[in-house]
Amino acid sequence: MGIKVAKFGGSSLADAAQFRKVRAIVEADPARRYVIPSAPGKRDKHDHKITDLLYKCHELAQEKRPFGEVFALVKKRYLTICSELGLSLDLIPDLTEIEARIGAGASADYTASRGEFLNGKILAAYLGFTFLDAATLIFFDAEGRFDAEKTQRVLSRELARYPRAVIPGFYGSTPEGHVRTFSRGGSDITGAIVARGINATLYENWTDVPGFLMADPRIVKNPKPIREITYRELRELAYMGASVLHEEAIFPVREAKIPINIKNTNDPDAPGTLIVNDNGNLQTRGSITGIAGLKGFTIIAVEKTLMHSELGFGRKLLSVIEAHGISFEHMPSGIATISLVIADSQLNSKLDKVLVDIDRVCEPDSIEVFHDIALITTVGLGMAYTPGIAAKLFTALAQGGINVRMIDQGSSEINIIVGIENKDFEEAMRRIYYAFVPQTTEPEC
Ligand code: ASP
Repeated sequence: MGIKVAKFGGSSLADAAQFRKVRAIVEADPARRYVIPSAPGKRDKHDHKITDLLYKCHELAQEKRPFGEVFALVKKRYLTICSELGLSLDLIPDLTEIEARIGAGASADYTASRGEFLNGKILAAYLGFTFLDAATLIFFDAEGRFDAEKTQRVLSRELARYPRAVIPGFYGSTPEGHVRTFSRGGSDITGAIVARGINATLYENWTDVPGFLMADPRIVKNPKPIREITYRELRELAYMGASVLHEEAIFPVREAKIPINIKNTNDPDAPGTLIVNDNGNLQTRGSITGIAGLKGFTIIAVEKTLMHSELGFGRKLLSVIEAHGISFEHMPSGIATISLVIADSQLNSKLDKVLVDIDRVCEPDSIEVFHDIALITTVGLGMAYTPGIAAKLFTALAQGGINVRMIDQGSSEINIIVGIENKDFEEAMRRIYYAFVPQTTEPEC
């Protein structure tokens, strides 16, 4: 039997009722041997995440202001979970020590990591699993970078000694023995590292959504979950803002060819989304996998006759934006034009100076600037093998009266990116979605 590593997010462990669901899930499959918890999340939309409260405690302590009231909320949440689950676990000594250390100036990383630490202790007691402190298994180097080699060595040795264990997410330790956290949402990374460390057959990431959705549910009503997606497709969608999983969680498992299954703790029988390696058979899927997009780009279109035969023109153009510390997203080009698509956050207030420099260095015939551009990427590995995808996409946009300002399709044909005006963004997303996922009833756009 293979080994599954199951990571549960904050909302999956927000209160005792959620803990009960988690235990039922773990017990339903004996392959679920290593469990990674986040800190308790929000119970409803007005609630606080424990991690946020802990950061607040740290901030107040640093300013020498009282943090006891905020810490009391943290304390109450854990003690309530313990008592509602009927656990005899005594967390008071840990809570007292943590409060004292925060008061004595403990670091933000230490303080925030206690959310996962305490939740891990509770979950281990509730499941009857061994509790293993992530500080003894996950390591960072002296510069604060994740130390994959040492972690892998220690993890594979230690986990072999414990057939079933709970390892808190989000943190590890430095060579000096200090606690260090990953960036926010980092329990996903811990889960991936553990899955790799034990050479799991599957990394399950349990959350509160049905999986990775085909489109942003704030824009498209009830988009379908994606049943199966490759790492490459996921990267394309995540790059344009779609997210369920911490970006860095992909690397450890992808390298080890371990699939990830995004699952819903509140609907455990639903298949969720399976993230797999780029295998050949997906190319026959014949449709798109998902859509994502972002607003807030500027296009700088540079035109010069005979540009295509001028040696070094592209290099000169790019050297200008490089000199201003700006990176570009896309660079579609024609015989006499090159367009640079740049995020507004990169450009800031530098646009005027950049234009002056392009004019001086490249001596173009003209430079045009288009503001308020949004990009939408339509992703699907099967697109390259299916005629008519682009026709369908552009027909849908044309029917909505949406003007396409830019088109970019990488040679791998994994996606088609269109640049449109910000104001058309939501409508364009819906038009594309409904072109590929026909509705039985008229969508409420
Ligand atoms: N608790 C941490 C956070 O809120 C890490 C995590 O949940 O993955 O960012």
